[in-house]
Amino acid sequence: MEDWNLSPAPESASHIQLKKQYDLFINGTFQKPNSKKYFATINPATEEIIAEVAEANVKDVDSAMKAAAEAHKTWSKLSGAERGKYIYRIARMIQEKSREFAVIETLDGGKPIRESRDIDVPLAAAHFFYYAGWADKLDYAFPMRKPQSLGVAAQIIPWNFPLLMAAWKIAPALACGNTVVLKPAETTPLTALKLAEVIQEAGLPAGVVNIITGAGSTGAEMCAHPIPNKLAFTGSTEVGKLVYKAALNGNKKLTLELGGKAANIVFDDAAIEAAVEGIINGIYFNQGHVCCAGSRLFVQETVYDEVLAKLKKRMDMLIVGDPMDKNTDIGAINSKNQLQTIERYLKIGKEEGAEIYQPTCKLPKKGNWCPPTLFTNVAQSNRIAQEEIFGPVLAIQTFRTIEEVIDKANNTPYGLSAGVWTDKGSKIFQLTKALKAGVVWANTYNKFDPTSPFGGYKESGFGREGGIHGLEAYLKFED
Ligand code: NAP
Ligand code: MG
Repeated sequence: MEDWNLSPAPESASHIQLKKQYDLFINGTFQKPNSKKYFATINPATEEIIAEVAEANVKDVDSAMKAAAEAHKTWSKLSGAERGKYIYRIARMIQEKSREFAVIETLDGGKPIRESRDIDVPLAAAHFFYYAGWADKLDYAFPMRKPQSLGVAAQIIPWNFPLLMAAWKIAPALACGNTVVLKPAETTPLTALKLAEVIQEAGLPAGVVNIITGAGSTGAEMCAHPIPNKLAFTGSTEVGKLVYKAALNGNKKLTLELGGKAANIVFDDAAIEAAVEGIINGIYFNQGHVCCAGSRLFVQETVYDEVLAKLKKRMDMLIVGDPMDKNTDIGAINSKNQLQTIERYLKIGKEEGAEIYQPTCKLPKKGNWCPPTLFTNVAQSNRIAQEEIFGPVLAIQTFRTIEEVIDKANNTPYGLSAGVWTDKGSKIFQLTKALKAGVVWANTYNKFDPTSPFGGYKESGFGREGGIHGLEAYLKFED
């Protein structure tokens, strides 16, 4: 990094409007929690408290569910075109307030401002635009099947893409005529609450969208509640299994978007510079807090030395630190808890005999930080090659033949995503067929689009979000 000496380029937070305390967004208004409890949400880069947020208890969950059930009676009867108007309005308002959303996302979650500005917020708006367009075309999306809304959807999201995950959940549900109760993660509630303000300002009928905050127990109460007809969960496989049980017990429709341990595969005929960029983007984007992160790298033996040398050189150039600086590549780790998890895996990796590489970078004194990390000399059975770390940690292995790499890549309990780098279209087709992953990127990585379905196999969950598939998860049919 010494070579670059970039001047600081901090984004300003002076234009954002945050309250000191946030209540629960139920039935169109912000309401004090029945629990009377609030918890702090912290800026992981400075460890400062940003705001206090209400903790919803079982009674609050019940109020939100009842408001959603009541609102469903009229919302589901509105014409698709009318529903679409509201959803378009939300999309436009996210665009208008995009700078504010980006800054709040970065302050609350620690991701670089460049990412929240260029990826999270525009994609969130794009999801609302996309599903707004489907609202009056459901009969064309599912001809002869008479699509109908399910009712109330209980939606629970994680902390890695807070606004974007809220958009993935809310937009298709509303387009299909459902009403929702959404809970953001404990460490990143603020953009969802900002979205609640937007929804209020957009004039959505009361109760169509309810946003309640709280910890895991609030999520569990939502799943156990009798009203929701659908549970939509994005988060860890561990909690996903509990949600699965709740859905079975309550006879609720379910989608689960869970963890991953994706293989990113580089063949010797690949454009190596581009592949290196894709490896970096695959694992260090959003501090590696990405379900589809390319956390297992497989490099063909003949180009291993070259790839490794170029990768280390590129890692040395990554800027770690203040997420509000527009030059920053790797921001703060989302929470102390997550940092401890990552550090535990770094220790495990070393104990398992893998060799660690981290560039030397100056880290801020306060806050949660982890430099970009790679492990070489990794065995297939190592825990760092099997378990999801959810941090900026890459495990590298080599391969000789295409058959070998297919076997290795599929040797995982997960199946969310994969990447392939090669000059040969035939190899791409062979791998996309053979890899057990919901998404396979070819000569690119971490590309998202609302028109494209996303979801997993095996322990990565089931059901798809995005595209027409994403509508199907919020509809029932007469056939
Ligand atoms: P998590 O611990 O499973 O939490 C996810 C959400 O569930 C949070 O809102 C959490 O609340 C809530 N929750 C916790 N315990 C619950 C319970 N017993 N019942 C109902 N809800 C409960 O996951 P995370 O650590 O926030 O997120 C990281 C995980 O999400 C990773 O495994 C990642 O791969 C996965 N993920 C998957 C996708 C995908 O599309 N497949 C996308 C993003 C992330 P609290 O925050 O208050 O604990
Ligand atoms: Mg926070």
